[in-house]
Amino acid sequence: MSLGRVDLHIHSTASDGLFSPSQVVRSALELGLTAIALTDHDTTSGIAEALQAAEGTGLEVIPGVEINSEGEWGDLHFLGYYIDPGNPSLRQRLEAMRDARLGRARRMIERLAQMGMPLDWEEVRALAGGESVGRPHIARALVNRGYVSSVQEAFDRYISNDGPAYVPRLRLTPPEVIETIHQAGGVAVLAHPAHSGVVDRVPEFVALGLQGLEVYYPEHSPEDVEMLLDLCQRYNLVATGGSDFHSPNHEEGAPLGSVFVPEEAVEKLRELVGK
Ligand SMILES: [Zn+2]
Ligand SMILES: [Zn+2]
Repeated sequence: MSLGRVDLHIHSTASDGLFSPSQVVRSALELGLTAIALTDHDTTSGIAEALQAAEGTGLEVIPGVEINSEGEWGDLHFLGYYIDPGNPSLRQRLEAMRDARLGRARRMIERLAQMGMPLDWEEVRALAGGESVGRPHIARALVNRGYVSSVQEAFDRYISNDGPAYVPRLRLTPPEVIETIHQAGGVAVLAHPAHSGVVDRVPEFVALGLQGLEVYYPEHSPEDVEMLLDLCQRYNLVATGGSDFHSPNHEEGAPLGSVFVPEEAVEKLRELVGK
């Protein structure tokens, strides 16, 4: 079943999705979609493969990215559309975020060792299975070593936000994310605003250069959609949307192409970048 013909929020194996970029393209073609955006977390490494797979098919692949930010606003996601994946400032910032994430996990492991709970870095990395190493993997390693009896206990005693082994994340702030997307020639859109609970901050982000809202999203109710469409109208923002597809059975997101997104969203994004 396909409700729409465009899907502007899709993850692949380049971040935490299950399908490779070419598998995403093949599935989109099978579903009869006309445009998709590959929006992997903090990386543009899948875009070249997706563009190549779609060549000559009539399916438009919009180069995209989903960038996490944090600050006084909490953990917010921004989508960048029609970005230039090779833009130096975008690449540098995404790389710095990846390094910081890896470094942060290592620093937490160092602290745990100082507290008498040594873990083996390779073992933790294996638990992450190719994903970037995060707290859930450290927690599982602590359980495997018998330092704690459950993942919950690992968080409660050591690695929760105020735990003794916690090292804060290094992430871009919303102004930095919006700036980075613009520098890479892209359109900056706030991802799933109602799901993230940040609707009342939209005017601030508009002042920073935000150009769109992700209105159509699996977790958005019809009331959310209506309220977000009003905001789009008031602030002259593009209404985008997508499934946040990760895999057929992922807890996050919905099946590819399963969320209605008006096709004019693509035209409006294109207008904004002058394509
Ligand atoms: Zn997100
Ligand atoms: Zn996403």
